[in-house]
Amino acid sequence: MNEMVKNLNLVYTLDGKIYINLTNKCTNCCVFCIRNSSDEIEGKNLWLSTENYSTEDVIKQFKEIYEKNTETQEVIFCGFGEPLIKFDIFCEVAKYIKDNCPKLSVRVNTNGQANLIHKRDIIPELAKYVDAVSISLNGENQDIYNKNSQPQDKENAYTYVKDFIKECVQIGIDTTATVVTGCEKALVNIDECKKIADSLGSKFRIREWLPKGY
Ligand code: SF4
Repeated sequence: MNEMVKNLNLVYTLDGKIYINLTNKCTNCCVFCIRNSSDEIEGKNLWLSTENYSTEDVIKQFKEIYEKNTETQEVIFCGFGEPLIKFDIFCEVAKYIKDNCPKLSVRVNTNGQANLIHKRDIIPELAKYVDAVSISLNGENQDIYNKNSQPQDKENAYTYVKDFIKECVQIGIDTTATVVTGCEKALVNIDECKKIADSLGSKFRIREWLPKGY
């Protein structure tokens, strides 16, 4: 592992959980994204000076951190970007965790656009490795979603997000649609969003926006 990769925060802990930070890339530019206002979460700098790392680099960091945090019960793929952009590495790391740490549950926090990004249905493969998925809904219709999340593909993203939620539910992943509230730049109708989550068969969660990390 070269020095640059060694210094990356690919894996970190927060509130007793282990987080995996695979990328700084994202197909959204949410108005509430912490990346707009901070370089770090709880003192961990999550900007990656290079993304030219390997699966083994992530697994090595994971093992070192897990050895010091054996009481941890959950691993979450999250961080300063959309984790499923790195779908191949995600699968390899999540498979390692499932094979070697069976007591850990695995969740991914995602913008729900992976099928649009990869131009194929990745959910059957995703379902092999995750117990739970948290998907950003953030809008009761396409206009509001586009204002809040500013996706690169404004024509298709919202539809793909809703389809992603529905298919994750249908395949049996513990699925939660989320909305962020409390950020003055982002406005959502909570009741309408909950109705959409209900209609898709998903759980629903309101995430309170915090300026230093939501
Ligand atoms: S989806 Fe997440 S990482 Fe991407 S811009 Fe929105 S808040 Fe930031």
